[in-house]
Amino acid sequence: IQAVDGVSLSIQPEQTYGLVGESGCGKTTLAKLILLLEKPTAGNIFFEGRDIGSHDKHELRTYRKSVQAVFQDPFSSLNPRMRVGDLIAEPMIINHILPSRVAKERVGELLGQVGLNPRDASLYPHEFSGGQKQRIAIARALAITPKLVVLDEPISALDISIRAQLMNLLKDLQQRFHLTYLLIAHDLAVVEQLSERMGVMYLGKLVEEADSEELLSHPFHPYTVALLSAILPSRPGERRQQIVLKGEVGSPINPPPGCRFVPRCPKAMPTCSEIEPPLVAVSDSHFLACHLRS
Ligand code: SF4
Repeated sequence: IQAVDGVSLSIQPEQTYGLVGESGCGKTTLAKLILLLEKPTAGNIFFEGRDIGSHDKHELRTYRKSVQAVFQDPFSSLNPRMRVGDLIAEPMIINHILPSRVAKERVGELLGQVGLNPRDASLYPHEFSGGQKQRIAIARALAITPKLVVLDEPISALDISIRAQLMNLLKDLQQRFHLTYLLIAHDLAVVEQLSERMGVMYLGKLVEEADSEELLSHPFHPYTVALLSAILPSRPGERRQQIVLKGEVGSPINPPPGCRFVPRCPKAMPTCSEIEPPLVAVSDSHFLACHLRS
């Protein structure tokens, strides 16, 4: 199975790259590759200009410290048997960043930075709401001062009422600590709020990529257009007609020939089933894989 196939993208320091697509499109596999949780069968990952495939053990350890993650489900990402203070201190102690006593003092600071009370360090995860648990997960990710944070559906498991607060917190922390984010979400509305640049993935392929403003105002790919039609209008009076795609995302085990979006594309033409559209530039920074513009 090629869960991610020929995807090439770059993330600028201190910016947010938003990666959108339905579940099964390969975005989480891409995150796992970056986090070294899976090995690529081909291709390279460059971090600060260097191929991490050629890193020695020491360099890989440094890389691992520089790249942290916040996952969708704070319920399963936090060990329920550990106190919050120990959970946040653990990465600092394991990575020999601070001695145990100092790390525990730093926990209070981190809890304050994510909007929790330093006294919460003595409690267990089950004593917090979903949004608070995600704040704890963020504090744990920030404990070892990473440069890149992979945010894999960070707010999808939370109540709508607290999503905006979490997004604002992520924005504040990014500015304060000069963080770079890879934000992964199935919902374009989430990604649009934080990202400077966006990529749209479908069945293991990047099908469109552009700066966020450009992508939102001039989407070309029929899949991007459909995703965009599903989000609420950003201005009063703006009207959007929702495009409902038929069927489900196909399987990467046996992708259709030609364009992988063919079975669901409202604009499909005979050539789409025969020739796979390459990702090509439609302007300086806007890339598209669709025969409609080639
Ligand atoms: Fe639709 Fe054809 Fe474009 Fe694929 S290449 S998105 S099937 S129009």
